[in-house]
This record gives sequence, structure tokens and C-alpha cells, in this order.
Amino acid sequence: MISFYPGPSRVYDNIPRFVDDAYNQGILSMNHRSDEFMLLCKNTITLIKEKLDVPSSYSVFFASSATECWEIIAQSLIREKSTHIYNGAFGEKWYTYTKRLRPQAENIYFNPAASLDTSSLKNLQTEVICLTQNETSNGTQLSRRSISIIKKENPKAIIAVDATSSMAGIYLDFKTADVWFASVQKCFGLPAGLAVIICSPRALQQAQSIHEVSHYNSLMFINEMMDKCQTPCTPNVLGIYLLMRVLKKRKPIGFVDHKIKNRSHVWKKFIRKSTNLKLYINNQDVLSDTVLALTGKPELIAEIKKKAKAKGLILGDGYGSLKNATFRIANFPAIKKMEIEKLQKFLKGFL
Ligand SMILES: *Cc1c(COP(=O)(O)O)cnc(C)c1O
Repeated sequence: MISFYPGPSRVYDNIPRFVDDAYNQGILSMNHRSDEFMLLCKNTITLIKEKLDVPSSYSVFFASSATECWEIIAQSLIREKSTHIYNGAFGEKWYTYTKRLRPQAENIYFNPAASLDTSSLKNLQTEVICLTQNETSNGTQLSRRSISIIKKENPKAIIAVDATSSMAGIYLDFKTADVWFASVQKCFGLPAGLAVIICSPRALQQAQSIHEVSHYNSLMFINEMMDKCQTPCTPNVLGIYLLMRVLKKRKPIGFVDHKIKNRSHVWKKFIRKSTNLKLYINNQDVLSDTVLALTGKPELIAEIKKKAKAKGLILGDGYGSLKNATFRIANFPAIKKMEIEKLQKFLKGFL
């Protein structure tokens, strides 16, 4: 089976070997307060910073999921009000989760087919601006330029970016925001159960001034524990170990970015030749590099998914309200060229 699901996704082929190594090396029973764990944690964070080109002044932390990151941000970085700018289901979910904790959260919805108009997003009266870099539900992304303009035009606000389905897949300019997070079951090519949070010094200052310490996962507490390369609770030690092993083998993000963008270009060209299948959003400026959402007649989509599965190709269902109207294909780094060719050969029969 080859999974093209945009999360959980295809994992790297050497994961079983790494799990075996973890078992043999005692990683699975490792004490999370031990010197061995602290070294593992430190090495993994060094690799994240190195391979993803994270500014040296930024801090890296672990959480268990992107959803947990939404709550960490709501609790620790927002006193009262955040502003959520989104065009799809994940951005909306982040907004609704935050609103439960911080009822003054506000949302600005924009049309997924149009580029985000940043001219009206100046000096927003808010503490945190929440952006979804890659909207996994509809296959759109926010450009590097849009994020950097929003930051520039809102110098007082903290900019937080959900990069769950793009981090470790495309180059992200971390300087242009204060908080970035992703879970590892997407572009990292790893099993679920671990997330990475990247914070600017400004974000940590804001956490310090709010000083929210009533949760085990308060950013203050997470930061304090990380001074010792530890985490507040027993973390996913195996996940951290696998992340370290995978990153060690990874090329720098510039190479990965290049590969993903080339493949994305090939995919878009392939789909644009079709009469029965279309890109759900067909605006080059906003199209995601890492997730393709395709649309067609619901009967055709159902047939394609079923026949693909019989051939060992797992396609992603549409997400949320787009469940039957679309299907999704991940363009994540762990997917092999020959696997993409196999899927394209199969899809040719339906174009
Ligand atoms: C998958 C995804 C999430 C949810 O991730 P979890 O690890 O399941 O919490 C959040 N945001 C985006 C953009 C995603 O693609």
C-alpha cells in the first residue's frame, strides 16, 4: 500500500529499522529525566534548527499534536483576543478551539480562490494573529510574502503560523513570524504523536509577561523545562528518536523545497490536461505545493478512490464539507518518484 493521504502520511522506509534500533538501544524504556534523554532531545533540536534553517535565536519545543499547539498558544500567548485569518477547515478549527478558551477571538475569512488581500490587515487590534500557512483541507497556501507583509504591518502583534502540512516540506522563512508549529505525521514522514513548536524571543517575552502557569503545557513551563532539555510530562521519546534519525538523513530544506516544488509543478501540469478532474482551486498564486485537492463528479471521485485502493494506492478523502466533492493527494517528501509515476499512470485512465 502506498499512502498519498495528506496526514497521517507515508512514512520513510527506514522507520521499521529505526524502531528496531530504538528497541535494541533501550530508547523505548528511556527515562525522560536521564542524561541520555537530555542528549537525545538536545541533538534532535540541533538537527531541526540545522536542517530547517531556524534562526539561532529561536527556541524549539515538543508537544504531542498541532491541536495541542493551538491550545498552548491560546493559553499562554493570548490574554483576551486573537485574530484568525483563514480560508478553510483547519484555520476555522483553530479559531473555534481558541474561542472556547478566549471568547474574544475574532475571525477574518477569505475566499480560498483569491489571494489574501493584505492591504486591509494593518495594525489589527489584537494580541496574536493566527495564520494557516498550508490549508490542508482545500490545497491552498499563504505565500512567504503575505506572511511577511502581515508581520510588517502589525508590529505589535505576535504572528503564529500553523505549518502542519508544510514544515519540513517547503522552505519557511521563520523570521517572518513568532510561532510556527507542525505535527510530524505530514511532511516529516513520521508516525503521529509528536509536534514541533518554534518560537521567537518575542513570543517567549509575551509568554513571560502573561505568565500563565495553570496548565502542565504552559509555554512558560515548557520553556523552563527545555532549559534542561526536558519536557513537563513524559514525551513521545520514540517519536523524538525517530525524528532525530530521519532528520540526520535529510538534506537541507533548500534541496527538499526544490524537489517538492518541481514535483508540484509536474502534478499541476498533469491535472490541467484533464477534462474530468480539476484542481479544486486553480489559482497559481495560492496553490499549495504539498497538498493537491482535486475535484470532479462525486461518482467519478468515489470510483477513482475505490479503484486506486484496489491497486494499493491510498488517496486522501476530501476534508470536512469537501468530503465527497474532492479528494486529496499529498506531495510530501517521503513519497518516492516512482510512486508518483505509478499514481499518475493509474489516474491517466480517468482524465
Ligand atoms: C493535520 C493538521 C492539523 C491537526 O494536526 P494534529 O497533529 O492531528 O493535531 C492542524 N492543522 C493543519 C493545517 C493540519 O494539516
